[in-house]
Amino acid sequence: MTPLERELGDIVGSRYVLAGRGELLAYASDGLPGYHRFPALAVMPGSRDELVAVVRLLARYRVPYVARGAGTGLSGGALADGAVLLALHRMRRVLSIDPVNRVARVEPGVVNMHLTRAASAHGLHYAPDPSSQAACTIGGNVAENAGGPHCLKYGVTLNHVVALTVILPNGELVSLGSDAGEVEGYDLLGAFVGSEGCFGVVVEATVRLTPDPEAVRTMLADFPSIDAAARATSAIIATGIVPAALEMMDQPTIRAVEASIYAAGYPVDAAAVLLIEIDGLAAGIDADAARIERLCRDAGAREVLIAGDEAQRLRLWQGRKKAFGAMGRISSHLVVQDAVVPRTRLPEILAEIARIGDEERLTVCNVFHAGDGNLHPNIPYNGNDPGESARVHRAMRRIMQACVDAGGSVTGEHGIGLDKMDYMPLMFSEASLAAMCRLREVFDPERRSNPGKVVPVRSCREWAMAPAARELGGKSIQAETHG
Ligand SMILES: Cc1cc2nc3c(=O)[nH]c(=O)nc-3n(C[C@H](O)[C@H](O)[C@H](O)COP(=O)(O)OP(=O)(O)OC[C@H]3O[C@@H](n4cnc5c(N)ncnc54)[C@H](O)[C@@H]3O)c2cc1C
Repeated sequence: MTPLERELGDIVGSRYVLAGRGELLAYASDGLPGYHRFPALAVMPGSRDELVAVVRLLARYRVPYVARGAGTGLSGGALADGAVLLALHRMRRVLSIDPVNRVARVEPGVVNMHLTRAASAHGLHYAPDPSSQAACTIGGNVAENAGGPHCLKYGVTLNHVVALTVILPNGELVSLGSDAGEVEGYDLLGAFVGSEGCFGVVVEATVRLTPDPEAVRTMLADFPSIDAAARATSAIIATGIVPAALEMMDQPTIRAVEASIYAAGYPVDAAAVLLIEIDGLAAGIDADAARIERLCRDAGAREVLIAGDEAQRLRLWQGRKKAFGAMGRISSHLVVQDAVVPRTRLPEILAEIARIGDEERLTVCNVFHAGDGNLHPNIPYNGNDPGESARVHRAMRRIMQACVDAGGSVTGEHGIGLDKMDYMPLMFSEASLAAMCRLREVFDPERRSNPGKVVPVRSCREWAMAPAARELGGKSIQAETHG
């Protein structure tokens, strides 16, 4: 046992320090199964004091580390390649709920849906709802600036974080934002949200809670072509009605869902479906629903179903929220990709994605937040076939290039992590990337917090030369990537 391991055990208890390869296997991947990186150690603090003591110890040893919430990330962001993994799932207490000011204080490992459950007694909920909300944590959501189906109307994580307590890599505890919700001085909270664990670790978060709507209507519109569904999307947005959610699924996705235990009654012969939800005051909601139905039919919808009760509504949502899981039955590996394009460019980009899929002999399943122009082209594939893996890699790069060429971005909501670093130069100049490194250095001058992620420039990777990292890394680094 190394001195570091022993001292970590003194802080959290030795059963919460893992060093064996078998034990670490569960932490060698996140939600993107094509990557495997073994941490040198995994440590699981159970309280704020333990987390602070652990980070201070790592600062003393000058050891790199990576925070991990639930490991549902889809960009390889929580992988710790020979570094220490800080697994935060034991820090899962909702510390307080203030229904008058509509805020909650939580530990970083609180599961997103558990927060909504805790707030429901007050007629409140936590609005950002990634489709992984049954598992992902608030700390991970903050780090990724996570979105979700309802972020079209309610905004992404950044819009719901009021204040954070974070521990910087040097062991200093700092407060960002303020409980009053006002920014004092530079908006460092804004910089921290979405920094993918590269600026430090969230120790505690104060987040906004949103009143439950008085009324909700959920609709499923069935289209004979993707183009018709995309036209309906633009028409709905053009009315000025802001749906709570506006999601599209194409035929391969519908078929995968309907063949799985998550079957939601979607029409398997539809080229695409839109799942549309509106919410707000009861007065007028049926008129809005009727207007949306008309717009869908005008765009070519064959059927528009309005959920008759809560059970049917939840069933329609289950198919969408479990779509990635449903694709897991099709093949051993799945790339879940994430990019944004201006909403008006959706039809042409979807046609281009289909063309790339055909040329690379791959099935691309699209399930995405159409209202935001946030695409998720997903490719089920056999990761044990090097030829197929190479085609997946090439297809992804071509899709990303097409999205950037259309005025979009290489990330919508899943972050850059390890997976999309090589795409960063498609969007950013050397000077911009260097500026990102300089911002990072404000928080983490030694680049020990989630090293080797997000910015693909040499100057951000020098951590690998730090003596402590080399000693740790020599122990168990394993690298394998798709492609
Ligand atoms: C089925 C499925 C559906 C999904 N749907 C969506 C969706 O609709 N919208 C969306 O945005 N994402 C979605 N995701 C992606 C993922 O769930 C989100 O990115 C989520 O925010 C990750 O949370 P996590 O707790 O699992 O974080 P992890 O995967 O454990 O970590 C993600 C990143 O956060 C960092 N991190 C974790 N905790 C902390 C902390 N306390 N302090 C600092 N950094 C930290 C890690 O280092 C890593 O870089 C989906 C994933 C799956 C598997």
